[in-house]
Amino acid sequence: MAVGAEAIFGDSVITTRLDTAINWARESSMWPYVFGTACCAIEFMSAASSQYDLSRFGAEVVRFSPRQADLMVVAGTITYKQAPILKRIYDQMPEPKWVISMGACACSGGFYDNYTTLQGIDAVIPVDVYVAGCPPRPEAFLDGLMRIQALQKSQESILKDRVNRTFKGRLDG
Ligand code: SF4
Repeated sequence: MAVGAEAIFGDSVITTRLDTAINWARESSMWPYVFGTACCAIEFMSAASSQYDLSRFGAEVVRFSPRQADLMVVAGTITYKQAPILKRIYDQMPEPKWVISMGACACSGGFYDNYTTLQGIDAVIPVDVYVAGCPPRPEAFLDGLMRIQALQKSQESILKDRVNRTFKGRLDG
């Protein structure tokens, strides 16, 4: 009968899967990049303030370079002129990455149903979590953040993809 390390060493050791450890690290240290253009961005600032304490989720290190971020938060109205810039900044973020669409304007254009306003950012970039409201309260944003954490928790390791790709490349080559 196989005896696990935990059975031998008791509480002195913890065994886990590599995926679980990587995902735990990811969900505990998100680096957000905030694409804030209007009032919803002010609500994000509120969520990051001491009253709501974004650092409880390990997400308080807001980055100003997309190359250092893994979570894009789009908060505010996006015009058609801004859309290519939003897409370009999204493309500059390294994988794996996630997107929160915060507020009615980012999700659907809100009440700006006119010739200048993008009717939802998912026309140009993929969105993982939509947060409703005009504006959403900080609690709603934090709920969205926890939904991102749930997605991260269930993610298969990209290491596995890389290993599979490597072996497939060798078999094909
Ligand atoms: Fe402003 Fe409302 Fe649009 Fe948010 S959803 S940017 S609060 S108008």
